[in-house]
Amino acid sequence: MYDCIICGAGPSGIMCALGAKKLGLNVLLIESEAVVGGTNILSLVTPLMSFYSRGKNLIGGIAEEMMEELVSINESKGHLDDPLGFCEKITPVDTDGLKRIYFSYLEKYGVDVLLSTKVIASNVKNGHLTSITVSGISRIYNLEAKYFIDATGDGTLSYLSNATYQIGRKVDNLTQPSTMSFIVGGVDLEKIKAEIKKDKTNFVLRDDYDYKYVGVSGFFKEVKKAKENGDLTFNRDRVLFFENNRNNEVTINMTRIAGYDFLDEKSFTYATFEGMKQIDECFKFLKKYIPGFENSYIIQTPNKLGVRETRHIECLYMITKEDVLEHKTFSDSIACSTFPMDIHSPNKDGLEIETNINDWAFEIPLRSVVVKGFDNLFVAGRSIGATHEAQASLRVTPVCYSIGEAISAIISVFIRNEMDIYNYDYKLIEKEFKKLKHNYKI
Ligand SMILES: Cc1cc2nc3c(=O)[nH]c(=O)nc-3n(C[C@H](O)[C@H](O)[C@H](O)COP(=O)(O)OP(=O)(O)OC[C@H]3O[C@@H](n4cnc5c(N)ncnc54)[C@H](O)[C@@H]3O)c2cc1C
Repeated sequence: MYDCIICGAGPSGIMCALGAKKLGLNVLLIESEAVVGGTNILSLVTPLMSFYSRGKNLIGGIAEEMMEELVSINESKGHLDDPLGFCEKITPVDTDGLKRIYFSYLEKYGVDVLLSTKVIASNVKNGHLTSITVSGISRIYNLEAKYFIDATGDGTLSYLSNATYQIGRKVDNLTQPSTMSFIVGGVDLEKIKAEIKKDKTNFVLRDDYDYKYVGVSGFFKEVKKAKENGDLTFNRDRVLFFENNRNNEVTINMTRIAGYDFLDEKSFTYATFEGMKQIDECFKFLKKYIPGFENSYIIQTPNKLGVRETRHIECLYMITKEDVLEHKTFSDSIACSTFPMDIHSPNKDGLEIETNINDWAFEIPLRSVVVKGFDNLFVAGRSIGATHEAQASLRVTPVCYSIGEAISAIISVFIRNEMDIYNYDYKLIEKEFKKLKHNYKI
């Protein structure tokens, strides 16, 4: 029997597995796809935002160790000031470099991993998961553990265990749109910088932008014109892209796929086809309207539609919009969030961002990762106990890393001291955080 089985090898699942292994637990990481990395790798999501808030690295831990190694092998530019002034720092990484480092860390730490293995059922007795049923490449079988971590992004293990949940926003269950990001090479970044200098009002920019690293949220006028001309037909008000780690390469985060049920395979398939069509339309638009893209070419399109939001699993505590805006701290804090409430509107073309503060740090309590009604089921990553608005802040990669790592420390304490979610010593968890160099206080 494993100490813990982690379902889903995205940022939160990987960091939970590495942390658990570092703390000496017997751990298994299960992933339905044939590759680890989740949305970062399958959906080409970069740069990572944000390790920093309030001038401090609020994430730390194994993730920071990984970032330092990525810089040392020239696969990341490190933590840079966000050119948009949206968050404090952003961390451009090469997607393939990130994939390779995920694999090498899992191997270095000695984590047992099963790829192409999907959780398909949960076996529950009186609020306790006794085993899960998985489908491998050629067989279906059960796996047992003391603790289970749902790091599937969609909260699938919790759903299969009959946990309660909320989809999207409370009023109408609409979720943030999904996006097909894609990587473009041969972009003349000097031309882009010249465009920004020419008309700063056409862009969202930090006040002291130094024109070294290129990130673009803008070209509002060109998008408007293209829409009027019928050259852009999807619901997006701006061009959004960031310079990658490799020369003259950018990742375009502009397509907008809304109105689908991302938890239904039929609807998800239609959404994916629409996303691929939008990439073609978007690339034609960039070449025609945006100086700097004349000689560009597509390097890579994603293997999976990037889904921002689906289920919010009901946990012992649900983080709210007010918690975010009030920089809430908690006596059982396990991680920090560092990012704005970045809500891509479910039914309009823009972003819905609360603008009354420019500091986004708040704490994530232990109770928000404990699935309500269960004594050995935790949820990690983007589907933890949070409302639509609060999730729009904590859903980003560095925060998902931190949540996953924190859960490994909690389980380590519970197992070693025969404690549980209703009876534990927080100071012991803090000691485990120290061992991991894990940051958890704003
Ligand atoms: C379009 C888009 C743009 C984004 N932009 C940024 C950005 O610029 N910067 C940033 O930092 N973050 C960004 N994010 C957010 C970030 O990438 C994700 O929210 C984050 O990866 C979520 O991590 P996770 O561990 O919760 O889940 P995921 O990354 O979704 O990983 C979940 C894993 O679980 C696996 N899985 C699912 N179901 C099962 C099952 N039944 N059995 C076994 N395995 C299963 C999946 O295959 C996957 O590998 C973006 C997200 C999207 C979609």
